[in-house]
Amino acid sequence: MNAFPAGDALVRRDLDLLWHPCTQMYDHRTVPMVPIARGEGAWLIDTSGRRYLDGISSWWTNLFGHANPRLAAALAEQAGTLEHVIFAGFTHEPAVTLAEELVRVTPPGLDRVFYADNGSAAIEVALKMSFHYWLNQGHGEKTRFIALTGSYHGETLGALSVSDVALYRKTYAPLLLTPILAPSADTYEAHPGESASDVAQRRLDELRQLLEEHAHEVCAVIVEPLVQCAGGMRMYHPDYLAGLRRLCDTYNVHFIADEIAVGFGRTGTLFACEQAHVAPDFMCLSKGLTGGFLPLSAVLTTTQVYEAFYAEYSAGKAFLHSHSYTGNPLACRVALETLRIFRDEPVLERNRVLSAHLAKRLAPLRDHPHVADVRQTGMIAAVELVADKTTRTPFPSLERRGLRVYLHGLEHEALLRPLGDIIYFMPPYVVSTDEIDHLVDTAIAGIERAVA
Ligand SMILES: *Cc1c(COP(=O)(O)O)cnc(C)c1O
Repeated sequence: MNAFPAGDALVRRDLDLLWHPCTQMYDHRTVPMVPIARGEGAWLIDTSGRRYLDGISSWWTNLFGHANPRLAAALAEQAGTLEHVIFAGFTHEPAVTLAEELVRVTPPGLDRVFYADNGSAAIEVALKMSFHYWLNQGHGEKTRFIALTGSYHGETLGALSVSDVALYRKTYAPLLLTPILAPSADTYEAHPGESASDVAQRRLDELRQLLEEHAHEVCAVIVEPLVQCAGGMRMYHPDYLAGLRRLCDTYNVHFIADEIAVGFGRTGTLFACEQAHVAPDFMCLSKGLTGGFLPLSAVLTTTQVYEAFYAEYSAGKAFLHSHSYTGNPLACRVALETLRIFRDEPVLERNRVLSAHLAKRLAPLRDHPHVADVRQTGMIAAVELVADKTTRTPFPSLERRGLRVYLHGLEHEALLRPLGDIIYFMPPYVVSTDEIDHLVDTAIAGIERAVA
């Protein structure tokens, strides 16, 4: 990796004392640590001036570009006014206005907002709230959760408990709750001749059987609507969400929609649940909520849930969960400005043009001898690399083919960060069609190197 700033002083200082997430630090003997100096639009610029087109929105958070001037100005103004205040017993304008806006833009019925400060924390809140709702209703026997195979809901112990990505889960399994796993409606696992909607129907039948057996002990079913992102950008038909809503009503369990990754326009609608015309009982939001500026999350729920906690102090029904930075004014103010960009600009319309362009550019890869699947939902697209196309046999994971695509990308001004051998595209919405071309061209060349 000759052209890299391996001798960069910042990188040396980093590797001397930092420990990075989702990383075997030993890898950095050969994989470069990229020292970023600044960001501009869809680009990141390192300390030696090299540029990288951010094809993954910096872990799916960025919507409107790095150092977005409008968001930066809102943040600066708020920082000079009120940076933080305890959110128990105290409130402030950004938290209230943001809550009003969130209630307005999310599906009907989600009329209460609880803040936390990252995605996993929002999942913890939703799980605890659902359990506690049933407890307050006299159903303390409901202690379990149904999650989908291939799901990812974060990596704190509660969130990891309802996740099914072996890489993250396996090691820590002895520490975790045991969820009831329902098979995902993942279209990649369709039987021959089955449509995406058929798969959804078959998987709903299986879910019905699980609920038939377990509903009495189940608080909620938790899902990532439409796209199971960390599980490999696996996608499913909106019919599954519509059927899930009906089953949850029938069997008296909550529906938790984790829209942390898919919310805020990623799937083509502001929220993925809209495509099934359903409202969940809990909706978890984070990542794009602040346009990628600051950590913040929100759990929206219904008046019905809220009222099960609302009683005299002596009833002991209050929800107990707190983070020091709950409702942080800086984060709320930037989130509010993010929603105002959606209000003022034709974001979803523009994204339709961009995602159509991305689809057109990726289509030829379907014929590639090492590509098993090209799939897309809005501004998320994925290319699944395999050793054998007909049997869909993966490459041995230790060959780390996807990593070669990542390294190729870094050499060619693109940040692509495959999930195993799944190369995906999840760019900020400010990307141009030319920039999409650059991402796709770089990925295709990287794939050729990776499968060689
Ligand atoms: C990223 C993610 C989370 C966890 O959010 P963090 O802020 O990383 O803790 C939860 N659910 C989904 C679907 C995610 O993509």
